[in-house]
Amino acid sequence: MKVYLDNAATTPIAKEVITEIEPYLSTYFGNPSSTHAFGRKTKNAIEINRKKIADFINAKSNEIIFTSGGTEADNIALRCAVIDLKVERIITTKIEHHAVGHTAQDLLKSNGTEIVFLSTDELGNPSIEELNELLKSSKRTLVSLMHANNEIGTMLPISETADICNQYDHVFFHSDTVQTMGHYSFDVKELGIDFLTCSAHKIHGPKGIGFLYVKKDFKISPLITGGSQERSHRGGTENIYGIIGLGKAMDLAYANLENHQEYVQGLKLKMMKEIQLMDKRISFNGETDPDKSLYTVLNVSFPEDICNSMLLFSLDIHGIAASGGSACSSGSSIGSHVLAELPNQENKQAVRFSFSRFTTNEEIEYTLEKIRAIIKNE
Ligand code: PLP
Repeated sequence: MKVYLDNAATTPIAKEVITEIEPYLSTYFGNPSSTHAFGRKTKNAIEINRKKIADFINAKSNEIIFTSGGTEADNIALRCAVIDLKVERIITTKIEHHAVGHTAQDLLKSNGTEIVFLSTDELGNPSIEELNELLKSSKRTLVSLMHANNEIGTMLPISETADICNQYDHVFFHSDTVQTMGHYSFDVKELGIDFLTCSAHKIHGPKGIGFLYVKKDFKISPLITGGSQERSHRGGTENIYGIIGLGKAMDLAYANLENHQEYVQGLKLKMMKEIQLMDKRISFNGETDPDKSLYTVLNVSFPEDICNSMLLFSLDIHGIAASGGSACSSGSSIGSHVLAELPNQENKQAVRFSFSRFTTNEEIEYTLEKIRAIIKNE
């Protein structure tokens, strides 16, 4: 049996997405910038999808910029804040994805942007008291706090955080929503947020495509200069297959959102309950309260004396794919920068199981059975 429980790293592409893309691979090949019928066909498809995506988050079409994925979207948000909005300070945490963390570090080097890290508690929640205190200064500031942590699933109260930022004209708010877009509803007007990001491959869409929501009154200097695509925000012939796939992936994600949420949450809760029964010393990393924790992610710490460092390898031998951190750091010897910020990680093996609407009950049963056997050394 092959069981894929690494959906926070990437998800399998949905069949309907492939069907939607296919005519643009085989038949409609026009360059969207061409003014003839071939070009108009693909340009039209891009704009239909842009409008559809904007509608899902209650944005306007001209507030959506297609990007090569979450990393680029985060990059544009942070760099635009510093270069165009003249932000002098970025407030974030040490447990953001590297797309934010390393970009902030780069802006410190290139532009002298100050970086302030909020402390995070033992569950990965950033200190809102510190945020409130820091924002009293008149420095132009970008607050960049992820909606849900990709490794431990802890969720930010995004609406309350937006309210705090919105009290100040000199404060902008970016939230990396790569792990939550398509899994929760967003209304950017109600949130009053400045930047949101999305990556299609996390929601059964193609890799190499995503978008940045950016409040329309911001002027943005392109990171990629060239043609006037994306209203001159990003040069280069558009990734038409990606955009169509992303639009379809969003359709599918939001068509039955509540059912998906309930179903996947059920799988996670079942796995938590059963794992806890195996040994009392097994613990979970990050928030476990379903209202504060991403329902697609379960990060488990096994004491090393019951599960040695070969745990992931043993699961892999049984056909079960999970991860030892985020995809971006798994396989790397430096380990997880997120777990490094949490207390009591010594002598423990952390495994991230992440689910999707395609995960089945049988797959969870099989995984639990194999974990039980590994623990018992069978
Ligand atoms: N932000 C978060 C929270 C992520 O989990 C990821 C991918 O793992 C990214 C950003 C980067 O997205 P992409 O792979 O589309 O560049």
